[in-house]
Amino acid sequence: MKTEISQERKTFYTIGLIITGIGFIFFLSVFAFAFLGDPFQMGFNFMAPGFIGFTLIIIGQGIMTFARLGKAGSGLVLDPKQAREDLKPYSSQVGGMLSDVLDEVDLPLQAKEVVKVRCRQCQALNDEDARFCKHCGSVL
Ligand SMILES: [Zn+2]
Repeated sequence: MKTEISQERKTFYTIGLIITGIGFIFFLSVFAFAFLGDPFQMGFNFMAPGFIGFTLIIIGQGIMTFARLGKAGSGLVLDPKQAREDLKPYSSQVGGMLSDVLDEVDLPLQAKEVVKVRCRQCQALNDEDARFCKHCGSVL
């Protein structure tokens, strides 16, 4: 089977993974510094790597999501087949829920068609089978 994932997306995914990994190292270093104090006596705010790490994780995850979903994730469906596959569990679940709700509500699927007749005298709308206008009493 021919893979439908482009090399570009694989590269993006790897970059995202690496950035996320670096972010995690930065993030975890906060706990190390918090535990050890400032072992190198550098006097910097050890919360800073936490913020850097957090930012890197978000950026990395964003790139990975983009790589995984491709342009479909950003609104442009390049690979509709894959997009449908991705959404299948979700859409079938929604479909199942929808039919459950419809069973529950017992909606009249064939709603009675309502035809109204407009009175020539006063323009009021009357039922199709009305013989006199309910508003002005004129013969319809
Ligand atoms: Zn009327």
